[in-house]
Amino acid sequence: MLPVKKTARIFNIQKYSIYDGDGIRTLVFFKGCPLRCKWCSNPESVESGFQVMKQQSLCDDCGICVAACPKNIHKMRPMIDGEKEHFIDREISCSGCRICEESCPKNSLTVMGQDMTVPEVMDIILQDMLFYMSSNGGVTLGGGEVTYQGDFAVELLAECKQNGIHTAIETCGYTKWETMKKFVEVTDLFLFDVKHFDPERHRELVGARNERIMTNLEKLFQAGANISVRMPLIKGLNDSMETLKTTVLYIKKIQTNGHLKSIDILPYHKLGVAKYEQLGQTYPLQDVDMSYTDDELEEIRRYMAQFNLPIRVVKH
Ligand code: SF4
Ligand code: SF4
Repeated sequence: MLPVKKTARIFNIQKYSIYDGDGIRTLVFFKGCPLRCKWCSNPESVESGFQVMKQQSLCDDCGICVAACPKNIHKMRPMIDGEKEHFIDREISCSGCRICEESCPKNSLTVMGQDMTVPEVMDIILQDMLFYMSSNGGVTLGGGEVTYQGDFAVELLAECKQNGIHTAIETCGYTKWETMKKFVEVTDLFLFDVKHFDPERHRELVGARNERIMTNLEKLFQAGANISVRMPLIKGLNDSMETLKTTVLYIKKIQTNGHLKSIDILPYHKLGVAKYEQLGQTYPLQDVDMSYTDDELEEIRRYMAQFNLPIRVVKH
């Protein structure tokens, strides 16, 4: 009998990134996340299932995808003027066959999610060995939430390590310690999100309390992991000086000397809004002005300087 084919659902592999770790990196994005952050800029990453994104402005309602889709997800409906328009029935689950994507003459459709094996992902990663070596770069796994498909991710990271590639993961930390601890041996750097220190406020903002996340962070420090803590800065939601101070002092208390690489404060933006529309969803923070002025960020920078920690305010 053939061995069971082990795959993970990946929604993007981005090469030549200079974010999410040092040097030039390949980023592998896993589909599926246990949290529901209101500001998520990758809404296509949240659900584990395949999803179709549609660029409405390209579609001319030709109906070709309607005839092509074996699951009857693409449909036509009448408009007031008597013409018909195309829409996607998002109640029906998509099989990811990609027939609609390939058949659309206007390139209006993109199917998010592809099931890939470790060798398939490694083939792409290994193409850029020269860049990793010349820039002290490597590979970063993100998502979605990478621990959601933990066994596959650990296997992929182990394969990277065997090839001498620096490894990082970006994680929300919301998983069992039994899963998280498997990453310690194969991950050179954890980019670990702390979104709010208060458990109840955390639940309001992302759909789950944070005790499990904070415990995992403490245990990772105890296990000797190298960690950059990332704090997304969302205007009016988690950016009071009091909240930032409490979080930073907590990290100062639990860190193990030498293993806290940085605390990165990341002012958020609305870059993902168009993707919500393409998924037929509404952006939860539609009416929130999320932009920070340079003066506001400078004030946060100055305030943070008092804590004597490697804190950076990073504007992408
Ligand atoms: S990927 Fe396949 S199942 Fe999904 S919407 Fe397209 S044609 Fe239908
Ligand atoms: S095939 Fe493309 S252009 Fe035609 S209805 Fe479907 S999405 Fe629109």
